[in-house]
Amino acid sequence: MVKIKRQIVSKAIESKVTYGGKNPVNYITVHQTGNTSRGANAKMHAKLQSNGNSRAASWHYSVDDKEVYQSFEDTAQCWHSSDGKGPGNTQSIAVEICINSDGNYRKAVENGAELVRYLLDKHGLSVDKVRQHHDWYPKNCPAQIRAGKDGITWSDFLNMVKGVKVSKPKETQTGSEQITKSSPSNGVSLDVDGKWGNSTTRALQKALNTPIDGILSGQNRNSVTNALYGNTARFDGGGSVVVRALQRKVGVRDDGVLGPETVRALQRYLGTPQDGVLSRPSTVVKEMQRRLNAGTF
Ligand SMILES: [Zn+2]
Repeated sequence: MVKIKRQIVSKAIESKVTYGGKNPVNYITVHQTGNTSRGANAKMHAKLQSNGNSRAASWHYSVDDKEVYQSFEDTAQCWHSSDGKGPGNTQSIAVEICINSDGNYRKAVENGAELVRYLLDKHGLSVDKVRQHHDWYPKNCPAQIRAGKDGITWSDFLNMVKGVKVSKPKETQTGSEQITKSSPSNGVSLDVDGKWGNSTTRALQKALNTPIDGILSGQNRNSVTNALYGNTARFDGGGSVVVRALQRKVGVRDDGVLGPETVRALQRYLGTPQDGVLSRPSTVVKEMQRRLNAGTF
């Protein structure tokens, strides 16, 4: 595997961005950086940590298509899993896989899998101790693997970790194209304006594999649906198919009605403030549109 470059942060920085206890290393947690910028590679992420620029987060390893940087000793309790003093932060090692658009996505994931396998062996762990960030907290991370980008799903990733070579995808894409266009909701380019209209519903229907008509049918008339469509919208009662699919996705009772409880679950799923309100425009809809465009919803 590629060489691990050790660039351990100073004690002063470590004391600001870790819990300071001893990590027993019971798990390995996989993340993807969420940063598609050119140059947002392992070296840049390591530098960010060395400079103390990432005040609210910390992670042990950054890996890209060429190299691995280690920023914290394995025993550090870094802040990466959004679970407070839960097992993600206090008992696992964080591996951040870079998704910079000027890197080779598949190679970076393969290097990530190799690093995970190396860490499992080093700490005497089996592959069932590999976790997604999402297993600790309902954040969509590692987003691209979760979305099966470039044909690499989570189970493919685990197979890579086990040393099984995954089959080549039928179509390979390169450069910045791969970030926005190669996912299950291929071809979606919504305005990220935070306003949930027919085109957003259409994209959501496509992503959730429900009939595509751009109409959020079956809504009870209430403040939420009026906020979405205005008072003149047509609603036919009886619950909406796409809302039910959405509810199952975000883990709330699937009654087909887009009420405050569902909005709150959607906000939790997307990591935006949870107030159960769907204003127009709204932060949660913006994030949903962004993810629908990226194919990472
Ligand atoms: Zn993460």
